[in-house]
Amino acid sequence: MPDQNVPEIDAPNHNQATRRDPLSGQDAQQDSNSEHLALLRQVQVLQAISEVALEQTKLDDLLPTLLRRIQTMLAVDNVALLLLTSDGDALTLYRVSGPEAAVLGLVRIPIGHGVAGTIAATRQPLIIENLATVPVANPFLREHFHSLLGVPLLADNRLIGVLHIDTVRVRQFTDEDSQMVQALAVYITSAIVRAQQDNGEQQRRLDAERQRAILQAATERMDGFLGIASHELRTPITNLSLTGQLLDLWLYQQHSRHPDESEGAYLVRAAAALRPPIQRFNSGVQRLNRLVGDLLDTARLREQRVEFHLQRLDLTGLVQGVVTDFQLASSSRSIHLSPLPLSLIIEGDPDRIGQVVSNYLTNALKYAPPERPITAKVERADAYVRITVHDEGPGIPEDKREHIWERFYRAPGTSPQSGSLVGLGLGLYISRSIIERHHGHVGVISVYGHGSTFWFTLPLVAATSAA
Ligand code: ADP
Repeated sequence: MPDQNVPEIDAPNHNQATRRDPLSGQDAQQDSNSEHLALLRQVQVLQAISEVALEQTKLDDLLPTLLRRIQTMLAVDNVALLLLTSDGDALTLYRVSGPEAAVLGLVRIPIGHGVAGTIAATRQPLIIENLATVPVANPFLREHFHSLLGVPLLADNRLIGVLHIDTVRVRQFTDEDSQMVQALAVYITSAIVRAQQDNGEQQRRLDAERQRAILQAATERMDGFLGIASHELRTPITNLSLTGQLLDLWLYQQHSRHPDESEGAYLVRAAAALRPPIQRFNSGVQRLNRLVGDLLDTARLREQRVEFHLQRLDLTGLVQGVVTDFQLASSSRSIHLSPLPLSLIIEGDPDRIGQVVSNYLTNALKYAPPERPITAKVERADAYVRITVHDEGPGIPEDKREHIWERFYRAPGTSPQSGSLVGLGLGLYISRSIIERHHGHVGVISVYGHGSTFWFTLPLVAATSAA
């Protein structure tokens, strides 16, 4: 489409070469006139092009207008801009004004091959009057055009691409044409370099912002963790110190025992008084142990300092043992174990794998309502054993599912339904680390609002048929 905004000038007749005769004054006059005309034309073309450069700041807006204007001003049928690929091995067609747009995105020309590849390799302009006489890397050129003038795009001696103009009919491009296109190439190069710098700047800003957001999320998570850790550690420590004070009091009272009270009666009374604080003491110690244990495990797993005591073991028996312990410890809850296969043998550390089953069960007990059942299952899945723990708790929102396996991550909005333990957001991280170190996988299937099924798989060593 012709450009409506170009200044009006006469299109030159490019098919008539100017004859020069230095001996004829009239011809010399003609020569000097045509030189003036050519110069005037160059100025007009450059002016028309520079206007575009001033009007548009975005490369994507600038280039189509610029190429179209070059096409009109130079009265050519096609203007093509090729850019060097990031590996520097080839040129790809980047923008076209003319029929070659049909192959945009399909052309890749190795440096040194064909017309554009030669211009890139030699970094010299090239004029070809008849494209049928030279090897081309892009057959479209030869099929549709007769003559070509191409120039390299150089920024501080660094090649960034090639610009070529083409005509359907034969045309003898002149050195003046070549100089003009080289001048245009300087415009285009500086526009591209400026856009690349802007893009680089924008990308750096985006990267920096992303980094800041990640860092902020990590800091918030760490702050949250420190808040919970200090709170969780303080409660059992308070219990311990209270128990210490009570023991102290008891010792004091022993001194002040009523002289009429028998030894036996006194001990029964003292034991009854001491039982609740000692129970609190024990559960406080257990809690401390668990928290500190999780922190230690996390540090050791991260530093690959956990030793696994591998042995062949039957996973059905192991899971059955852990589930039975939970059934006894939480007798008010309904914890089921689906019918078990006869035996499924894996190689692993029984304590560590038991720890993962315990983590899954603890979470199910913690996050699901107390009246809803929990079901554990052991089954064979091809060459793996698959263990699942299903609960009817709140489930996990889809966008949080991958994060729950990260250190210190606790899904916002999920709070324990029962038990006082909040947790440090380490259980699933530890579980995943243990299972992956056994060459297994972990995951969760959950419909938010409708419970969760946490699973892990471990490679099977041998298996007998299902019961
Ligand atoms: P925490 O000590 O917080 O329980 P975990 O690593 O075991 O740490 O779990 C990470 C987070 O995953 C929990 O804070 C909770 O948001 C979510 N989660 C884990 N298990 C369940 C479950 N069974 N139901 C719902 N949410 C769960």
